[in-house]
Order: sequence, then structure tokens, then C-alpha cells
Amino acid sequence: MKVFISVLLAVACCVSSVSAQQGLSVCGNTTAQQMEHMLPRVRTYQQQALTSERNEVQYIPIFFHLTADAAGEGRHKDRFVLDQLCDMNEAYAPMDFRFYLKPHTTYGLIDRSINSNSVYSGQTNEFLMNSRRNQNALNVYVVNQVFDDPNILGFNNSDRDWVVARKDQINGNGNGTLAHEAGHFFALPHTFLGYEGNPFDGVNDPTWPVAPVVSPGGPLTERADGSNCQSAADEICDTPEDYNFGLVNNGCNLYTGAALDPLSNPVDPMENNFMGYFIGCSNYQFTPGQVSVVLADRASNDRNYLDNTFTPASEEISVPNDLLISPIGGATQEFYDEVLLQWQSVPGATYYLIEFDISTLFATTTNFQSVIVPATTTSLLYTTLQSNRNYYWRVRPFNEYVTCAPAKTSSFRTPVTSSVKSIEGLNAWNIYPNPVSPDDKAYVAIQANNGFTTSLSIVNPAGSLVYEQNGINLNAGDTTLEISTEGLANGVYFVVLSTEKGRAVRKLTVMK
Ligand SMILES: [Zn+2]
Repeated sequence: MKVFISVLLAVACCVSSVSAQQGLSVCGNTTAQQMEHMLPRVRTYQQQALTSERNEVQYIPIFFHLTADAAGEGRHKDRFVLDQLCDMNEAYAPMDFRFYLKPHTTYGLIDRSINSNSVYSGQTNEFLMNSRRNQNALNVYVVNQVFDDPNILGFNNSDRDWVVARKDQINGNGNGTLAHEAGHFFALPHTFLGYEGNPFDGVNDPTWPVAPVVSPGGPLTERADGSNCQSAADEICDTPEDYNFGLVNNGCNLYTGAALDPLSNPVDPMENNFMGYFIGCSNYQFTPGQVSVVLADRASNDRNYLDNTFTPASEEISVPNDLLISPIGGATQEFYDEVLLQWQSVPGATYYLIEFDISTLFATTTNFQSVIVPATTTSLLYTTLQSNRNYYWRVRPFNEYVTCAPAKTSSFRTPVTSSVKSIEGLNAWNIYPNPVSPDDKAYVAIQANNGFTTSLSIVNPAGSLVYEQNGINLNAGDTTLEISTEGLANGVYFVVLSTEKGRAVRKLTVMK
């Protein structure tokens, strides 16, 4: 497994190294917070020998909140959550943890409901954050900035028992940030505890190059020979001495600074420890001592809320090359405003992520669309595309645990032709009330000059068919049809009348 980790993370190392040189990259947890909330737990676990070696798989429910600003802009893309979950499962493989996406009964598989500047940038609106909490999962809030500070990558809020991470850290590129914050969640302090605000680098360090016996933050400085490891720094003996050298080091390169420990011995920090600050390592690790602490924390009563009996639909998902059925190969479609995407059902998948764009990067700001549909859906009707354009779409099958399967991509072109042709005999029609509450019925009033047979359907904002009634025989004159909006979420829907020869569409807004 470790070999696999190294290969995966090596690709990503250079991205992180570059960003590290642009400014300090730190975690929001202070020395004091860790001494109050994490160190006592480490002591308890070590004293009680609660270092459970379960050697069995434990499924850990996790729930991501992708937040946006007050205008709903800036929300991180769903696919990065899927990528990040793969990273988490690599990082916590030594614990036999398997993180899986745990849906919220109201907010779904991934929470996309927070549009608030005071969460997106500063996390001051804890009331709002807490209102979206999944009570039975590790909650991760993905934001634009942590505490309005451009240097902070993430934070574990011990009082609220949740984790915050900057969105550029949630991407599956092996940067280690979320694994680090989850490490705090499971009681791990920094390996350099005590040197958070003042790395030992000769700046403001009067005893340089010999480190002080007591760190600037209060904990004892760990000696290089390990002789005080049970009472110094993180108090985990197999994490070597580190006086926050990562903060001043050049990326993950071997530390070659001249610092000495309090006994004047040379230091040898573990650069690639998840709980240090060395940036851009290709193979971050937890030590066996850290693994034991995390396992003990998971086994403690405070973590009962993570208990579950989850079993994934499948341990792996194999994506067929011909996953996408239609439209493919750049084919020009019949109508630009009625494009039906179809793909194959994939064994083991419980969801599909569908992405849509005018570029193969799937990253434009105005044309990009992303939607997650349950595995019962293998087609989507798009009615809001632009005419005369190339479109790219891709489908990624996944289940709550297996999220790393590759997507399949294809393309098509929209024509200038619209599908909206008038229905012969249809004089006028309307929907009321509009907006309609999901608790009420809506009515379709139709005035026809002559009789015809039609179908009536409702398409949701993502393009999925949510209601269909076929073979409705209308006579000349006025007819009122009743449609149920029960169970429809807030949003703008399309009500479609279709006959053999024509089609008519009206918008229907569902609003509580
Ligand atoms: Zn930290």
C-alpha cells in the first residue's frame, strides 16, 4: 500500500512546493488549543494503554460542506471531493480507516447550501455551519479562506468538533492538509508542539543554535536522543524532534539547518510527517505511535457518533470504455435545447457525477455544470444549452467509498435549431400557481382550438425527468390538468407538453 501512496503523491509534489514559496502555509491550531484539547487525550490513551490495535477495517463517515460567498459564487467543484476522499483513504490506510461519504438527510451527499461570506472567508457564522452539520460524520467545511488569513490552510475546531480546509487544499493532489486537520480531529498535536508561532531558526531565538529546554509556547523541547520524549512536544515517542523546521525549510528537502537540541546534539526531524509543516512531501506518513493514538481516539466514547455499519456497494468500480452511449464523437444534435445524455449502468456504482462544459478542462466559470445523480438515473435531458457550440461531457461512476474511478469523456455539437415548435391546435396555456409550494398542487390550464393527444412532463433544474404523464387526450376548448409537485426541492423546473409534431415548454418555480 505504501508504494502506491508514494507513486500517487509524487505527481503532486511540485504543485505544493511552488505555492509554499509564495507565503507561509500554516494550520490554524495554536499551541494553546492543542495543549488544551489534544495533548490530554494523547496522555490518556498512552496511560490507559488504549492504543487499540484492531487490525480490522473501520468505515469512517465523512461529510463535506462546499461553501460559497453570499452571491453563491466560488463553490468548490464536486469532483475535488471525490478526489480528496481517495487521498484520505491512502493517508489513513495504516489505521485501516476507510472514509466514505455519508449523506445528510436534508442536504444530500455533499452540502452545497451554505452561501455566506462569514463562512466562506472567516467562519464566524458558526451557527449557520452547525445548522448544516451531519450529526453522524466527520464534518469538513471547504472554504475560500480560513479566518480571513491567506496563510492558513486549515483548522480543526475542537469546540465544535469539525474541520475547516481551504478549497485549494481539497483536490487529491497529496498535499496532506486534510489528513493533517483530521489528525488533529483524532487528537494528534503537531510534532513540533510549542514552536507554532516561533520556529527555531535563529530569528528571535537568543540561545541559537542550541534550542531552549522549554519551547516558546510552553511544552518541553524534545531532545534528539528521545530521552524526554514522553513529556516533550507531542509526547508521542516515535515522532522525532522538530522545532517547526518545516516552516522555514525549502519544501520537503532534508533539513540541513544548524539547529541543535537542548543538549547541543544535532537534530533530525521527520520531514514527511503529516503533523509537521514541511510542504510538498511526496510521501507523507503517520508514525506507528500516531496511528495508535488515532485508533484509540476513534475507540473513545467521544467518537461514538461515528459508529455505523456501512458496507460499500462494491470495493472497486471498473469503468467500461463505452460508458457513454449518446451523444458522442462530436455528433451534431437535432436540437440545441433538447439534448438527452445517456450512459451505461455501471456495477458497484451508487452515483454518477456528470460534468459539462464548452472546454475539456471542465473549469470555465459560466458554462461549467456539475450534477450528481443516483445510480437509478442513466440519462439527463438538457434544455438550457446554447446553440451552435461544441460541448464536452463526462461521467464518473462512484459509490460512497470508491470515488477514484476515472471519468469517461465525449463531445457533441449543438445546432442552431430549436426544438420548441408550436403544437398544432394549442392556442394558449399556463401554469398556476407559479411559484408553487411543494405542499400544494399546480394546475396546467390549456386552451385548444382542436383536440390532440399530448404527454405532460416535468424536468428538474439538472435536466432529469421527475414527472411524466402520457396519452392525455385533450378536446377543443379549455382543459385543466392537475400536477403534483410533492417532494420537489426548491428550484426552477420545466413543464413540457409534447405531441408527435410539436413541443411547448414553460418554467415552473417551486418555492417553500
Ligand atoms: Zn495543525
